[in-house]
Amino acid sequence: MATDPRSPAVAVGLQGSRCRSGCAVTAYPAEDTCPRCGGPAEPAVLTGTGTLWTWTVQRYAPKSPPYQAPPGGFEPFALGYVELAEGVRVAAVLEADIREGLDGIRIGMPVTVTAGHGVPRARPMTPGEEDS
Ligand SMILES: [Zn+2]
Repeated sequence: MATDPRSPAVAVGLQGSRCRSGCAVTAYPAEDTCPRCGGPAEPAVLTGTGTLWTWTVQRYAPKSPPYQAPPGGFEPFALGYVELAEGVRVAAVLEADIREGLDGIRIGMPVTVTAGHGVPRARPMTPGEEDS
């Protein structure tokens, strides 16, 4: 499993689950039962759009395995929690070149999240995407 934070994102929907018992709670990663009511849950592809809830910079290499350093060696990367439209929060690597500074990252900014390989990846939305 590749977890290189700089590998390109693959446009794959996040596979979560949704409660079938009426409370309609969404979970990620997918679970067989609802985390709120304990009822049955069914697979659901999440919208992948949300806002950055919080974030930090990973400044040292994560534990390996499962982390695999890229061929050029570890470099710090931004990591955050995205609150999706469904209300669930997902940890994701932020696709931001932090060597150019951290000014482009702000809590509450709209992002899109894709499953990709390994951990999900979040990309800031362009102004055009925010309008749609
Ligand atoms: Zn439920």
